[in-house]
Amino acid sequence: MSVDKKLNDLKLESNPSESAKVVDESKAGKAGKAGEKVEKSGKSAKAAKKPANPLLLDPQPEFIDYRIKMFDELKAKYDEDVASKPREDIKITLKDGTIKVGKSWETSPFDIANEIGKSFSERQVISKIDGELWDLTRVLEKDCSLEFLDFEHPEGKQVFWHSSAHVLGEACECHYGCHLSYGPPTNDGFFYDMSINNGEGVVTQADFGNLEKVATKGIKEKQKFVRLEMTKEELLKMFHYNKYKVEFIKDKVPDNTSTTVYRCGPLIDLCLGPHIPHTGRIKSFKVLKNSSSYFQGDATNDSLQRIYGISFPDKKLMDEHLKFLKEASERDHRKIGKEQELFLFHEMSPGSAFWLPHGTRIYNNLCELMRSEYRQRGFEEVITPNMYNSKLWETSGHWGNYKENMFTFDVEKDHFGLKPMNCPGHCLIFKSRERSYRELPWRVADFGVIHRNEFSGALSGLTRVRRFQQDDAHIFCTEDQIEQEIKGSFDFLQKVYGIFGFEFKMELSTRPEKYVGSLDTWNKAEKKLENSLNEFLGDKWELNPGDGAFYGPKIDIMISDALGRWFQCATIQLDFQLPSRFELEFKSEHNDKEDSISRPVMIHRAILGSVERMTAILTEHFKGKWPFWLSPRQILVVPVGVKFFEYAESLKERLVKEFGFYADVDVSGNTLQKKVRTGQLLKYNFIFIVGDQEEQEQSVNVRNRDIQEEQGKNETVKFDLVVEQLIKLRDDKRRDNKLV
Ligand SMILES: [Zn+2]
Ligand SMILES: [Zn+2]
Repeated sequence: MSVDKKLNDLKLESNPSESAKVVDESKAGKAGKAGEKVEKSGKSAKAAKKPANPLLLDPQPEFIDYRIKMFDELKAKYDEDVASKPREDIKITLKDGTIKVGKSWETSPFDIANEIGKSFSERQVISKIDGELWDLTRVLEKDCSLEFLDFEHPEGKQVFWHSSAHVLGEACECHYGCHLSYGPPTNDGFFYDMSINNGEGVVTQADFGNLEKVATKGIKEKQKFVRLEMTKEELLKMFHYNKYKVEFIKDKVPDNTSTTVYRCGPLIDLCLGPHIPHTGRIKSFKVLKNSSSYFQGDATNDSLQRIYGISFPDKKLMDEHLKFLKEASERDHRKIGKEQELFLFHEMSPGSAFWLPHGTRIYNNLCELMRSEYRQRGFEEVITPNMYNSKLWETSGHWGNYKENMFTFDVEKDHFGLKPMNCPGHCLIFKSRERSYRELPWRVADFGVIHRNEFSGALSGLTRVRRFQQDDAHIFCTEDQIEQEIKGSFDFLQKVYGIFGFEFKMELSTRPEKYVGSLDTWNKAEKKLENSLNEFLGDKWELNPGDGAFYGPKIDIMISDALGRWFQCATIQLDFQLPSRFELEFKSEHNDKEDSISRPVMIHRAILGSVERMTAILTEHFKGKWPFWLSPRQILVVPVGVKFFEYAESLKERLVKEFGFYADVDVSGNTLQKKVRTGQLLKYNFIFIVGDQEEQEQSVNVRNRDIQEEQGKNETVKFDLVVEQLIKLRDDKRRDNKLV
């Protein structure tokens, strides 16, 4: 389970804008964008062309020798201790059931891997002993089970990047003489935070090459990762020069206990491990970017320098990764959003997008897609308030669990909060009058504006915002209707994701340790979700036991975009909690007295999730080449000369006013070539070129954005026919941009 997913559970409802994630990450000091400051790599870095420091400091910082001396003394004692341990035969059981015999305090997993084969052993990153990650070179102590993990394994990858963070730390110490703070692996590499010259020094991009050189030197030396256990007192002594490490030791290591350090080359670092056997396993190492951060993600602490890196056990993987990063940066929605004038951000309202006319077309089209499906699928749209009295949030539980993610303020001496979710409002509507079983399931949809209080430093384009809208809907139903409603939701999301061309996968998260509601209700509900999943996907879904929300089980849907990246946008969550907090009731079918009033179940569901974030994903998925139905620039009419301006204008008028397309005409003084080029850059789906022949025939010459053979001069097509084809392309919502 990823960190992201764990953090999801801290929230009341899955949050398509990922808002709470950052808040929680920085608190927990977890890997990721923890506490990263707004200021990104770049400007100041670019200004400084030359690195300020020589490759290696001479003399090297005193603390390096000091640490090594202390380490060597303790290590000698430890080696003596290990030497005195009894050597006994131990049984090592491999994953396939094979049993190997080794000697306690002598045999390491690496020895066993070598027995299996040299190339096999070189591919392995880490081992697992009785389910616990274990350095390949660490000696075994007793009978055990042994498993090997390579780089392709998610845990292997994390260990590889974790080890690479040490190499980066080593390079930074040798190059800057800095004091290291925190250096974890992330989902796509690793970083290290540090203080240079007591916070006076900054990292510049010009340093990257030197850092890579120092790192590569360490890698070539095949520095071993050597593990050593040390007491808290010894640790405080070893790291006395570094206030960040001292704080970690004081915080994390209880008195009278010990923990481990690892040495690789000149670096000795406080670390639980485990690691790759030696730095030589890293075949390719790169420093990618830098930023500043706060110690432990807290803005009241020291400001630190953060350096990001990436590494691989194979140079080919690095090349692929760099290609991927380049492709991703070309697709970056912030870049395309600017080029196509879709949206902008202003410091006067951080995290809230200004949707420009062309972006608004996309936004509205997405909402309209949902609306048209709502009409087909029996959903009713409502509009609900943005701000509510805190009493509502107390009832819903948000005031207790979610307040720090909300914008709150006082109105006439009462506390109010901007809504972070629509659900409580829908409960009020449900409760506003008597309800009968005949009305259920009641499917209520809301595009209401939602606000969540993100740290300004966590805001990023449309993916992390403070203000967004969702294609939010809640289904109030009876327990008996759950299965049918879930099936309906699957069908709905399959239709929508099919239109975008997303692949998707589903995960069922079941009852966590802390839960509300009766065990019986949970079991029944989980069974229903399982049945629906089996029917929909066969066995092609995953189970996350214990990963549900406290108020009900849920299904998370992950979509994969054109670059193969996975995003979670949709969730379907059952909720037994909110209906009971709001005491929602309906008159049931049964007339006997005790049973005449029942409580509905609530299903939270969204398919696009945040429309803001979905627009970002779609921009990158399509690389700004919008499918015709969603395109904010569908047709550009280009006259070949002044003589045909009038004809061109008349076509544009008809396209816009008669047929409702987004069409423009280029009547500038630019050359034909320039006009076509502009139209191509703005990714118009079609450019209609018109001249003498076209005007005579009431036709157009069509350049198709996505079809190479239709880029040059083509046969002319009657305007009426083209319009017919365009209408069909729009109504079919096809992605192929073919006129048929
Ligand atoms: Zn480590
Ligand atoms: Zn909800």
